[in-house]
Amino acid sequence: MSISPLMPVYPRCGVRPVRGEHCHLIDEDGTRYLDFASGIAVNLLGHSHEGLIGAIQRQAETLMHVSNLYGSPQGEALAQRLVDVTFADTVFFTNSGAEAVETAIKTARAYHQHEDGDANRTELITFTNAFHGRTMATISASNQEKMHKGFEPLLPGFVYCEFDDLEAARALVGPRTAGFLVEPIQGEGGIRPASQAFMQGLRDLADEHDLMLVLDEVQCGVARTGKFYAHEHYGVDPDILASAKGIGGGFPLGACLATEKAARGMTFGTHGSTYGGNPLAMAAGTAVMDAVANEAFLAEVTEKGERLRARLEQFIGNYPELFDSVRGKGLMLGLRMKIESRPFFVHLRDNHQLMTVAAGDQTLRVLPPLVAGDAEFDEFFDKLSAGAASFTMPEPA
Ligand code: PMP
Repeated sequence: MSISPLMPVYPRCGVRPVRGEHCHLIDEDGTRYLDFASGIAVNLLGHSHEGLIGAIQRQAETLMHVSNLYGSPQGEALAQRLVDVTFADTVFFTNSGAEAVETAIKTARAYHQHEDGDANRTELITFTNAFHGRTMATISASNQEKMHKGFEPLLPGFVYCEFDDLEAARALVGPRTAGFLVEPIQGEGGIRPASQAFMQGLRDLADEHDLMLVLDEVQCGVARTGKFYAHEHYGVDPDILASAKGIGGGFPLGACLATEKAARGMTFGTHGSTYGGNPLAMAAGTAVMDAVANEAFLAEVTEKGERLRARLEQFIGNYPELFDSVRGKGLMLGLRMKIESRPFFVHLRDNHQLMTVAAGDQTLRVLPPLVAGDAEFDEFFDKLSAGAASFTMPEPA
């Protein structure tokens, strides 16, 4: 392959998609891949969705970009849609997940800097195997050394705790604690749902000490698990939430949602973004909301998730040497493997034209577009079975 001018932070991959059709990707030589990765939980309406394309096209022809220094009817309309279906009262739009988490961190800190707050409370408790993005604050929030190496010094103000260990979290709460930052279902960490007791316990601790419960739903949010946001499974509301990925259906869009109380420090002039809330992004977000923010769509995701999971449970029984268990919720599923998952993910992609995503060390993520149906599930199992039957662990290089 010729040398690429792209900074080589990603693998030089021979699969180079140039077109998307519903649940398939087509690469430069016309090879079709079944896409059960969805751009890592982004393309929830699949590829080439007419409603999404039409909304972006119409908006592009009308008004592509305008400064946030002017009023934004498009932004107000999408923010109102989000407020109507969530715990939140107020929304700040960003262009990515990391920026949404950055905004959430700033919102949590600013809450305590308010005149009614306790200005000593500057630290967020964050959790093992978390992934919050690749900016300086978001890598600092994650305790993963491999993400830190070469980029120190990190930002202060993050205290690491074992994921899903409520007693450990309780023991870390002190006079400097501002709140908790947690993924209700860890994505990059290997599709690990938090327990009910943990989520409820963090909410109770936050209430007891006037702390902010900040949820990172960048990967698990926006209908992926069969609820609009995953925390609804737990009956536990956050104070602040970071959203992205699915919310734009492929258009770069993120959002930080908050209650009015939690956002009390985010006053005029304290935060901003040139592109955040751009009319094109608002059109994409609105088209996504039109498609997914209704009970019928969410019920369908739940039902499809149950069907896919049941089939996966049955499937892994045929390959006990490869697979351990299935975990996740809705259409955010992970196959816990008994081997390192990356070589198997590469094998499925290169030899069976099936896109999945590796996570953690031993999880294969299955993240189909939410519009996938039985035909795509059948194709998925054909490819997965052929892949499992033909897999041999490559020799170490
Ligand atoms: N938080 C979570 C939970 C994520 O999964 C990701 C992306 N994988 C991010 C934050 C960062 O999002 P982005 O890459 O859009 O900055």
